Amino acid sequence: MKKNKNLKLHPWKIIEEGFHPARVTSSESLFSIGNGYMGQRANFEESFSGETFRGSYIAGVFYPDRTRVGWWKIGYPDFFAKVLNSPNWIGIDIQIDNQDFDLNRCLKIEKFKRVLNLKEGFYLRSFEAVLRDKTRVFIESKRFLSMARKDIGMIKYKIKPLNKKCLIKLNSFIDGDVSNQDSNWDEQFWKHEEKETKGNFAALKSETLKTYYKVCTFMHNQFFLNDKILKETPKIKIKKNKISHTFSYSVDPNKTLSIVKCGGYVSSVRYSSINFNKTYKLSKEALDLGFDFLLNEQKNQWEKIWENSDVTINGDIKAQQAIRYNIFQLNQTYTGEDEKLNIGPKGFTGEKYGGGTYWDTEAFCFPFYLATKGSLAARNLLRYRYNHLDKAIENAKKLGFSNGAALYPMVTMNGEECHNEWEITFEEIHRNGAIAYAIFYYENFTNDKSYIPKYGLEVLIGISRFWQQRVSFSKEKNMYVILGVTGPNEYENNVNNNWYTNYIAKWCLNYSIMQVQNVRENYITDFQRIKKKTGLSEIEIYRWNEIYENIFLPYDSKNKVFLQQDGFLDKELRSVDEIPINERPINQNWSWDKILRSPYIKQADVLQGFYFFEDDFTLEELKRNFEFYEPLSVHESSLSACLHSILASKLDKKDKAYQFFLNASRLDLDDYNKEVMEGLHITSMGGAWMSISKGFGGMKIKNKVFSFNPKLPSKWSSLSFKLNFDGSILTVKINKKETAFELTGDKSINLICSGKKINVQPKKNIK
Ligand code: BGC
Repeated sequence: MKKNKNLKLHPWKIIEEGFHPARVTSSESLFSIGNGYMGQRANFEESFSGETFRGSYIAGVFYPDRTRVGWWKIGYPDFFAKVLNSPNWIGIDIQIDNQDFDLNRCLKIEKFKRVLNLKEGFYLRSFEAVLRDKTRVFIESKRFLSMARKDIGMIKYKIKPLNKKCLIKLNSFIDGDVSNQDSNWDEQFWKHEEKETKGNFAALKSETLKTYYKVCTFMHNQFFLNDKILKETPKIKIKKNKISHTFSYSVDPNKTLSIVKCGGYVSSVRYSSINFNKTYKLSKEALDLGFDFLLNEQKNQWEKIWENSDVTINGDIKAQQAIRYNIFQLNQTYTGEDEKLNIGPKGFTGEKYGGGTYWDTEAFCFPFYLATKGSLAARNLLRYRYNHLDKAIENAKKLGFSNGAALYPMVTMNGEECHNEWEITFEEIHRNGAIAYAIFYYENFTNDKSYIPKYGLEVLIGISRFWQQRVSFSKEKNMYVILGVTGPNEYENNVNNNWYTNYIAKWCLNYSIMQVQNVRENYITDFQRIKKKTGLSEIEIYRWNEIYENIFLPYDSKNKVFLQQDGFLDKELRSVDEIPINERPINQNWSWDKILRSPYIKQADVLQGFYFFEDDFTLEELKRNFEFYEPLSVHESSLSACLHSILASKLDKKDKAYQFFLNASRLDLDDYNKEVMEGLHITSMGGAWMSISKGFGGMKIKNKVFSFNPKLPSKWSSLSFKLNFDGSILTVKINKKETAFELTGDKSINLICSGKKINVQPKKNIK
């Protein structure tokens, strides 16, 4: 499908004009809404007979779907955890003069518009429809999931006959008959238990099978004619797993019949007990306050979010819209308040990737949440992995490791590995490194010295023990090697000595040794506790150091580049330009066999190392490696463009940096990969924010000192972004002539801007 020309540019809104049934599933993804605890695709409230992909998800509520693979390998996990499609509470079916309303069956649909208001946090859809009997109606629905009240969402659904009086029947319902499209065995995921209806309130209590999450899905309706509340009580219909409240009214032309629906979920993820009473009270309170009051509350919540995280770009509305969209979706997915939750690559916008946690969190999202929400949010993300340490140790044990070696899963919901392709599950072990790197990044960014002695060191010990056991000693090379791995470039499997994996393993070992020393010297009680708990020994630390000093890092002395893996030079190194355009993306056109033997790179691999460890290499080394690998990169992972943008900025390759940024930030809006209907690429949106701060802003933290080396794209007249130091907001303002800093709070900051040391005082502009 071609690029969606119906999407309009706007600095604070995503606007779609015109109705195209074939685009419904894509727009359902693009206009998704969420509040960190639940999220939903932008499905129509009313039934739709065209193609649609219904999805409403509750953070943390998952089902362990029995693994389905062709050939079982020992070590495969028993299940793939899936965030569950949850009962539908948005449903409002309409009948107009006894005809079922269905956007797919209208004579005409005019003025169709969807708007996602990023500034205020709501979604609006409106249109005029001409029905088969020529009745013309105007319909508008405004919907949001409350950021202030995490269990509820609100809908205001209006219907106005335009050319005749009509009998309108509104049928508002909750429906438990939902399933996941990606279910492995078509198993039932939900058991529905009790139903309750009281006046305009109805609720359905359900429990997830196997994981026993309890969820009470509810709705509470109010009906209005123009702005006058209608007191008539609705007719109640209860079917197996569905409760409907039906309300009929004869409506004169140009009068508006509307329903305000409060709905959502009260779940055991947030509450120790759930009951109808609590749910009733919660929704009644919301309705008593009224839709407009709650919408205002929503706007205020979003105002606060934007105060801490807005990015402004002048001179380029495409880029401005994109980055705000990215920040909006990141905030809808994770709010930083709960250490049980994390960020799925698709957030709550689709089923692909199961809603589980990947290395994407630490490598691509962590800097965003840390810099815009403060250290507590980031600490929660670190704690999530700390809480899963025992499971990571079990996971490694299942594969034959011992002595507390930890292998964090490639994909997880509860700490257990869910991924089941051997070349990734067993081999894409570099993920362990990103988890250690996030601890390092946190320690460098914040003033929190307590995380490592309290929690971080145990994680580092587990990870280093894994590397210690995973290396082998090559007599031939007289060095340590890591055999049989998959690097970040998943277009090569089972390779030996993937440079990035070896490098991050080496770095992890050294960092762990340093932190053992730090805790031993400065946090004696913690050290004793950790030593007792983990059995850490001096011999181990000695071994880590030995491996650190003697690990093999493949290098090509002819091209003076690090080698992606031992056999990389045996490949026919033809640039991506030689692939016929109609064969791109190769993962949709080539056999897997052809891809694996090709030199083509799915996402930054060696360059991922240059991004993480930028101070370890010179600019010349970066340039050589970038110019060697970038022409071989097909960027078929959403995580590729953002890193290439950052590195291109560093190398002053401004046009490339800009183009990569647009690819990363508009990946979904412009649907580059032709798959937005499956859901959004939330984790790559974290990468887009990094392209702004670390790429164009040239932000770097070294020995706890922040420096900026701005590289403004030529098209932009100015750029600003914010960093939140636990409440003190540093705004970095870059224009073509200068960089200025604005600081709130009461402490000054020393930093380096374009090589010059400066001291930024609160509330002052400094050039
Ligand atoms: C990428 C992985 C990533 C996963 C989830 C894959 O296509 O290659 O690096 O973790 O998607 O985003």
